[in-house]
Parts: sequence; C-alpha cells; structure tokens
Amino acid sequence: QAKQQGGNCHQFYSIALSKGTSDRVALKTSLRYALERDELQVYYQPQLNLETGKIIGAEALLRWEHPERGLVSPIKFIPLAEETGLILPIGEWVLKTACQQTRHWQKMGYPHLKIAVNLSGRQFQQLDLRHRLVKIFTETGLRPEYLELELTESMLVENTDVAIRRLQALKALGVEIAIDDFGTGYSSLSYLQQFPFDTLKIDRCFIRNIQDNPSQAAITQAIIEMANTLDLKLVAEGVETDAELSFVVQHHCHKMQGYLFSKPLPAKEFESLLFSEKALVGIK
Ligand code: C2E
Ligand code: MG
Ligand code: MG
Ligand code: MG
Repeated sequence: QAKQQGGNCHQFYSIALSKGTSDRVALKTSLRYALERDELQVYYQPQLNLETGKIIGAEALLRWEHPERGLVSPIKFIPLAEETGLILPIGEWVLKTACQQTRHWQKMGYPHLKIAVNLSGRQFQQLDLRHRLVKIFTETGLRPEYLELELTESMLVENTDVAIRRLQALKALGVEIAIDDFGTGYSSLSYLQQFPFDTLKIDRCFIRNIQDNPSQAAITQAIIEMANTLDLKLVAEGVETDAELSFVVQHHCHKMQGYLFSKPLPAKEFESLLFSEKALVGIK
C-alpha cells in the first residue's frame, strides 16, 4: 500500500514533466538567465520541534519568479536545471543565500536556528563540494552543524561505496545529513542503514489522510519505530491537518513541517513569523 502511494507520487511527477517539449526548451533558455537577472528567490518553510511546538529551523525552497509566467514550480524547473548543469551554480547560490540568511537570524536572537537545504545529485557528485561548503561557511560565518543537507535515496543507491565515502567526508565537516522523501524510493531502511545519515524525512504520501487509512498508518508507524530504534531523527513532511499532527506526535516523531503551521515563505515573512514566537498548538 505504501509503495503504491509512493508510486502514485512518482507518476504525478513524471506526467508533470513530460507535458510539452517545446515548453521545456523555452523554459531551459530562460532558466539560463534567471540567476543573473535576479529572478530566483529562496523561500523558507518552518520546521517545528514537536515537543515544544517551537520553530527550530527551516527548509530552504527555491522559487523562480519568471517575468512572464509568474511563479514556476521547482518540480518543473529543477529537473531542467539538472539536465543543463545549471543546477550547479543555482544550487550553490541557494546554499550560500540560505546560510547567510540563517546566520543573520541567528545573530538577531535565534543562535540555534538550523537550515535544511536540498542537494541535487549533480551537486553531491561534485568532487570539490566539500571545499565549496567550507568556503560558504567561512564567507557567511554559519557553523557547519547548523546546516542539514537533504539527499534522496536515488542519489545513494547507484554507487554505494562512493556515496558512503562522500557522506563521511561531509559528516566530517560537521554538517548533518537527511534523507528526503523517505519511502517514495524503493529501498528499505535496513539497506539505507549502511549510509551515515542523521535524519529521515517521511514523505508526505505517508502522512496524508493517515487517519482514514489503517494500513498506511501501520506502515508509517513501523517506519517511525525503526527510525527510533536506529537513533535517527524524524521529520514528518507535509502535515496539513490536526489529525495528521496528532498521529505524528503520538508516534514520537521529532519534527514536522507542513501547511498546518506554515507554507514556505519569503525571507521577510519567515522572519516576522519567527519573531512573533508563534508556536504550534495542540501537540500535547
Ligand atoms: P522537497 O524537498 O521534498 O520539499 C518539500 C515540498 O513539499 C515543498 O515543495 C513544500 O512546499 C511542499 N510542502 C511542504 N509542506 C506541505 C504541505 O503541508 N502540503 C503540501 N501539499 N505540500 C507541502 P516545493 O517547494 O514545491 O518543492 C518541490 C521540490 O523541489 C522539493 O521537494 C525539492 O525536491 C525540490 N527543490 C526545491 N528547492 C530546491 C533546491 O534549492 N535545490 C534542489 N536540488 N531541489 C529543490
Ligand atoms: Mg527537501
Ligand atoms: Mg521531501
Ligand atoms: Mg519531494
């Protein structure tokens, strides 16, 4: 059932991508200029500690404000950026922008605020990624332990030994590693155990309408229990309703992010929310 759900998510993804080839070419061309024309922006979605209900960090999510098309979804343009290699300069810009912004908020009174940044496969394969990260830490003043890199299963399974060595090198820097969209790929947690990571993000497919679907609830509960046994931190992604929240709280998930508390926000709006000290209600 869970795999079926994950499969559905993938199906949706590829349909969205295959629609219109000429459209893709046009988008690719304008993506080339997006960075230099200042059309890209980093949004921040709060991540909350489920024990305190407080904001403990954010996930950085890229947005493209196209001059004619308006906001283009990353689901649409990240794959194009990957195909063209543009993901390298764009991804590095996201890393630097997010680290700089987070360091700024830390100085404004939130010294332990963390930032999670999505890493693309091509960035992960970059031989000098470690060096680039060190440079970003030096330039922004953010300490590595406040950065969490989000990787997906598919980036790890192809060349296992190399992936493990790369992860170890990143961990040696002090950054944390999260596996994003867990459960939508087809690897088991016992297989993933060989990779040194800190956090598992349970995909939204497993959280959605969990109260109406006993078998899905059982699988999600099993994932949470396994992760707890393995001493992994757990983030529930895409929590939208009180029922979904109470499920993840009852099953000892550590963190959540989702529309129930907030959508991804432009930096200024995230800042207002952070400074307002708004907390998640109904977690006990
Ligand atoms: P992701 O890393 O799994 O990010 C979570 C996605 O779920 C975000 O979509 C977020 O807006 C959405 N989300 C969060 N809470 C909820 C909720 O309660 N309900 C619903 N329906 N959705 C929720 P977004 O921002 O559209 O990003 C989509 C994907 O694009 C990301 O998935 C990530 O894979 C990719 N992406 C975004 N920014 C970057 C980036 O800077 N670099 C790379 N390589 N990929 C990125
Ligand atoms: Mg992510
Ligand atoms: Mg995700
Ligand atoms: Mg996703």
